[in-house]
Amino acid sequence: MGGALWHGFADMGAVHRDGAFVVSRGEGAYIWDTDGTRYLDATAGLWFTNVGHGRTEIADAVAAQLSKVAHFSTFGDFTPDVTAALADRLAQIAPVPGSKVFFTSGGSDSVDSAAKLARRYWAETGRPSKRLIVGREKAYHGMHVAGTALAGIPGNREGYGDGEFMPDARTVEWDEAKSLLELIEREGADRIAAFFCEPIIGAGGIYPPPAGYLTEVRDICREHDILFVVDEVVTGFGRIGGEWFASTRFDLDPDMVTTAKGLTSGYLPMGALFVAPRVAEPFFGGGVWWRHGYTYGGHAGAAAAAMANLDILEREDLLAESKRLETSLHEHLSPLADHPRVAEVRSGLGAVAAVQLADPAEAAPFVKTLREHGISGRAAGQGAMQFSPSFVMTDDQVAAMAAGVRAALG
Ligand code: PLP
Repeated sequence: MGGALWHGFADMGAVHRDGAFVVSRGEGAYIWDTDGTRYLDATAGLWFTNVGHGRTEIADAVAAQLSKVAHFSTFGDFTPDVTAALADRLAQIAPVPGSKVFFTSGGSDSVDSAAKLARRYWAETGRPSKRLIVGREKAYHGMHVAGTALAGIPGNREGYGDGEFMPDARTVEWDEAKSLLELIEREGADRIAAFFCEPIIGAGGIYPPPAGYLTEVRDICREHDILFVVDEVVTGFGRIGGEWFASTRFDLDPDMVTTAKGLTSGYLPMGALFVAPRVAEPFFGGGVWWRHGYTYGGHAGAAAAAMANLDILEREDLLAESKRLETSLHEHLSPLADHPRVAEVRSGLGAVAAVQLADPAEAAPFVKTLREHGISGRAAGQGAMQFSPSFVMTDDQVAAMAAGVRAALG
């Protein structure tokens, strides 16, 4: 089954040789393969199943919406009612009060929308020379054109004629605010439109920010009139632990926030770009269009999924559960650092953690070994095992997961 499927981020020769890992069911923090074998889902899919698998409440809300109207359009003055209601609801929890919400179909859309809006904003406000977009080493901002240009994981940007997709992109060190300052000195603030930043480096290997780094780069951006874009595709909607967004937890006052994943817990594809009032303002005064949008941006079925997902997050106080997991993952996974095959464990901020293998080449076979121990895992960055469970994973399940990892390490 699935021989025709071209997987993303895969050595297809190896997938064809060894066969795919075919998932057929999920419930809470567990998934099952087609043979009926159960696994702890260590990653919540691709960091998104925040409310856990098998939520029929979301499925029912989507079914009801699709029967009413599946979708229509958010172009011009059109909108499905549920989409308008979702935007207002999101504006209530957005890190910057009064934010406007631009819907997309996923994280890469949100990032490319932010990059385009940054340049459009400066053009609209009379400073069209501000065109450069800046990202960081290790960064992952999706795989559209701007996201590829901003990729800090070298393999993700190589092979396309480096720089040719979008020559106006620059990269700075991921953990040194002074690297951003040096770039500003070199290029000139009058040429830089925006700085993109994941609060915790995610796909690049799960690296929490150095203390004070995020506010430092925020202040540098403010001082030099550079839009500060916080990519919360992973950290948003509670993954940061105890708050809706890292921008709230660290008081970042961002100009734009890119989101997706946890917005619907992945039950349907949807992203959203939050735009602070100061950036939205030139487009809301009358007579100005942003000629940008996606057919499925604000899809009514996805909006219904997001509404039901937010209901669950609020009703079950899952942000508190994600904060609990911040501690629990740290407590159970950090002791693995004593194993000779482990270089370090990065944990203690948000419901994410990485067990960094000493030899990155071991990562791919280790993912398969983990499955033999009842864990569905995934490698990120250079040989880091990713842990980003759903917020319903219990402390006992975290302990079982850590025990499984130790057993797999041998
Ligand atoms: N930004 C970040 C920080 C991400 O981690 C991802 C995906 O993992 C994206 C953007 C792209 O999102 P999508 O895969 O939904 O396009």
